Amino acid sequence: MTPAATRALTLINASLGMPAHRGAASSVRVVDARITAVGCEPQPGDRVVDLEGDRLLPGLVNAHEHLQLNSFPPLEHGPRFRNVRAWIAEVSLRARTDAAFRAVVDAPRDRRLLHGAVKNLLSGVTTVAHHDPLYPALTDAGYPVRVVEHCGWSHSLGIDGEAQVRHSYERTPRDVPWIIHAAEGVDDEAAQELDRLEALGCLAGNTLIVHGVALGEAGRARLADAGAGLVWCPASNLRLFGRSAEVADLVARGRVALGTDSRLSGACDLLHELRVAREAAGLDDAALQALVTGSSARLLRLADRGALEPGMLADFLVLPRSRTLSEADRGDVRMVVVGGRMRYGDRDYARAMGPASQWLDVTVDGRRKVLERELADRLTRAHVTEPGLEFPDAAWRAA
Ligand SMILES: [Zn+2]
Repeated sequence: MTPAATRALTLINASLGMPAHRGAASSVRVVDARITAVGCEPQPGDRVVDLEGDRLLPGLVNAHEHLQLNSFPPLEHGPRFRNVRAWIAEVSLRARTDAAFRAVVDAPRDRRLLHGAVKNLLSGVTTVAHHDPLYPALTDAGYPVRVVEHCGWSHSLGIDGEAQVRHSYERTPRDVPWIIHAAEGVDDEAAQELDRLEALGCLAGNTLIVHGVALGEAGRARLADAGAGLVWCPASNLRLFGRSAEVADLVARGRVALGTDSRLSGACDLLHELRVAREAAGLDDAALQALVTGSSARLLRLADRGALEPGMLADFLVLPRSRTLSEADRGDVRMVVVGGRMRYGDRDYARAMGPASQWLDVTVDGRRKVLERELADRLTRAHVTEPGLEFPDAAWRAA
């Protein structure tokens, strides 16, 4: 993962609360890629960056993603499926019959994984729960976001079968999250999957069910009573099935994290997903923020993420002072910091965070931003093309 920043950093005049209840500005000090103090004075020799009242949040945790599946154009099919297996059959058909789709499938996997990282980073995500094999590129020191490494997972009962699902659960330590797609549909088969997981002995405090569209009130109560959690992906649910999981009761019990799934079915990024979540469940700003910070870190058992406290990783998202997460888009993002190192944001912060040679001017959705030059160079070399991200410096591109 990202090398530690070498010089201590203190961010001053940061707003740490919700916009509607903003208290006095505070400061956060970072040494060796971790927060060492909150509400402190800068120490001699620190790099000091004045946030001038902008909001400082923990880097967001995207609780469900398939990082290699984000280069596809959206599949236009309408919300007509009863069960995820029918949608998977549709995707398989496209891969066999649609040459453009096939070309994306056949692109080098490391390129596609890098694309998935950029999708997340630009939206303020610094940690991703990737639901596929932990490919070597994902733990490479240069990979732009952190990927959850300590988890067990199975795809689903439909794909893996009961024996493999049970084996996956049994070999996962009980203090490590175990994650599975389940109840992803609106038919009886989807509705019965929680019972099947419970009968297999796979429903316990470390279980995280992704989707849960078919869970009824009783099922959700059993999930919460077991100490398990739900990873909610409302954009994907609505696109495939025309309805999302019901989550209000589970949110109230602190058992929900938010994930994007991949762009094959989900939102374009986690900020968009938050808007969909707000519309789908009517949650307030504080509840929405918890789904991608404190709750997601807790359910994924990431003890050093999701809050701004001493000892936590120095992963940050900076937003304009009055902007809530569900109002923001990636053009609004003022700064994304991973391990004390700025990777993306606005030019004024880039100037304060490092020398001019470290940054490249880009546009994101028509807004002038900067990207860390090393990352921009990697994207260019790998031929990653993220819609909306443009490198206007043609001379640099040709170099
Ligand atoms: Zn998924």
